[in-house]
Amino acid sequence: MNNNCIFCKIANGQIPTDFVYQSSNVVVFKDINPQAPVHLLVVPKAHIENLNVLNDKELSFELFDAIKAATKKLGISEYRCVINTGRSAGQEVFHLHIHVMAGRDFLWPAG
Ligand code: 5GP
Ligand code: ZN
Repeated sequence: MNNNCIFCKIANGQIPTDFVYQSSNVVVFKDINPQAPVHLLVVPKAHIENLNVLNDKELSFELFDAIKAATKKLGISEYRCVINTGRSAGQEVFHLHIHVMAGRDFLWPAG
């Protein structure tokens, strides 16, 4: 738990948030500034700065499992996942999160 981190506060219940899904070590909630009709954030409860420092195999699986469980719960089978890693890649919140977006067509290659 990092007291200066907004996602630590959300994931650990200090900021009341409706979770779309949660498991032992992962929460899923809606992005405050959605870039698609559905825009979820899949977030470990532990403060992990970004993907470069994720080294827990079980948690890695739990994150992927949470993507599947949350989308299934919402009846979604087509979606895009994004992990911004580092400032130049667009990371603004330095607590690992997977963006899961759905409900519109997405361009590829991404800009
Ligand atoms: P990043 O740019 O780090 O990959 O993504 C951070 C995301 O977190 C952004 O899409 C932003 O809208 C979202 N976000 C930032 N602060 C909050 C918050 O307090 N609540 C929620 N639900 N989302 C947030
Ligand atoms: Zn954090």
